[in-house]
Amino acid sequence: MRKPIIVGNWKMNMLRADAAAFFEAVEPVLTGEERADYGIGAPFTALDTCTAHAKHLIVAAENCNEKDSGAFTGEVSVPMLAETGITYCIIGHSERRQYYAETSAACARKAKRLFAAGITPILCVGETEEEYVAGKTVDVLKEELEGSLEGLTADEAARIVIAYEPIWAIGTGRSADQNTAQECCRTVRGIVRDLFGEETAAAVRIQYGGSVKPENIAMYMACEDIDGALIGGASLKADSFKAIIDAVK
Ligand code: 13P
Repeated sequence: MRKPIIVGNWKMNMLRADAAAFFEAVEPVLTGEERADYGIGAPFTALDTCTAHAKHLIVAAENCNEKDSGAFTGEVSVPMLAETGITYCIIGHSERRQYYAETSAACARKAKRLFAAGITPILCVGETEEEYVAGKTVDVLKEELEGSLEGLTADEAARIVIAYEPIWAIGTGRSADQNTAQECCRTVRGIVRDLFGEETAAAVRIQYGGSVKPENIAMYMACEDIDGALIGGASLKADSFKAIIDAVK
């Protein structure tokens, strides 16, 4: 049985006071006995605040560098992140692939480094609108997953979280319909099966992301191959995140 995992991705939002207020508002509605895991991906500067306030919420970073130290101005390494007490880290988000040239090969190295530190990667994959219209979704998912999971053991691949996020649905309000989201997440699981076998495919948790909100989360959670969500805009307000928790309960 896969335990669903719902993670907010704050992106470049939320000052430390906002983060503290969010955790103070959301933690009391969680007991740790929920049927899903819940968490927040926060900017580096707010990670300490989040881990200091977290009881049941998972805290994730939004990126990491694959090297442990060195002359990489402005970067943050996995040992630095480990010091903050985080347990998950988003890698390969489409905004990082698009604006900061993050490649699937780099994702694979980051995933290895994170696992070595006991941090679980949340690997994002997904096609652009142009690729979607051209019917290239499966090809894109195959290429991104083959590249990003390269070198992982079957056990690591079973423990990674994969977020399928169609780029055309991110921040647009144009969420994928239920059938499209389910079919693409099933495709992701099929690719994992081809790469690592049935046991790994059955265990890996796959999220849908792209304009998820309190009104549509239940529809995605009802899908066989969707084990949670990665949520941008609707995770920025405690009330909206609490409404998502309520809808999943
Ligand atoms: P939105 O939920 O704002 O569409 O963002 C999705 C996303 O990019 C989460 O990583």
